[in-house]
Amino acid sequence: MSMIRAFIALEIPPVLQDEISRASAGLKQKLGDSVRWVAPHNLHLTLKFLGDVPRPGLDALALALGAELGRLPLFELTLAEFGVFPNPKRPRVLWVGVQAPPALEQVRRVVEACAARLGLAPEEKKPFSPHLTIGRVRETASPAGLQAALQGFHPGRLGAFTVEGLRLFRSDLRPQGPIYTSLALLPLARENFPETNEVTPESA
Ligand code: ATP
Ligand code: MG
Repeated sequence: MSMIRAFIALEIPPVLQDEISRASAGLKQKLGDSVRWVAPHNLHLTLKFLGDVPRPGLDALALALGAELGRLPLFELTLAEFGVFPNPKRPRVLWVGVQAPPALEQVRRVVEACAARLGLAPEEKKPFSPHLTIGRVRETASPAGLQAALQGFHPGRLGAFTVEGLRLFRSDLRPQGPIYTSLALLPLARENFPETNEVTPESA
């Protein structure tokens, strides 16, 4: 059976993708080829990497997840600051920080549980540390040059947005960079507003 490389992620609104791109332009210029930069339109927040999954498995996941996520409230994310994995002495992954309410962790637990129930992927053991990868350091990069450039990079608060749903993406790896295609939109609950609008009486 043909397999699809897939992952579940939060989309970043295009204005914020542009903002991140603008904020990191100086860094890109300094570091140039020593980093493989994520194309602005590909910036996203991964909740779960699924790997190669047969198509029926993905359909089942989208169905199961869609039902569960529809019961969870919308929430807001703030993108701010910058960091690296695994540590500043040996940076491999460059990222923008994500400040999230507990609702994000709840969403991730639901994603993990659904994937596990369908036997798609083992439960993630690592603690969840939400981040937005902006670049991956190449093996050939000089650690000293990297450190010097990264130390001075403090983008501060980049913006906030309301998360209305998740997406199931297909990823096709190409030499020029990955191509992501949305396979399913998985909305969170829309009805997190009061059923009845209470009207405040005009003061007499
Ligand atoms: P490339 O591999 O060419 O750099 P990419 O990493 O963006 O591109 P994928 O490897 O298909 O594309 O990954 C899709 C998403 O899943 C990315 O956010 C990536 O960081 C994440 N991801 C990939 N592999 C893993 C993994 N083993 N564990 C956790 N997340 C992963
Ligand atoms: Mg990858």
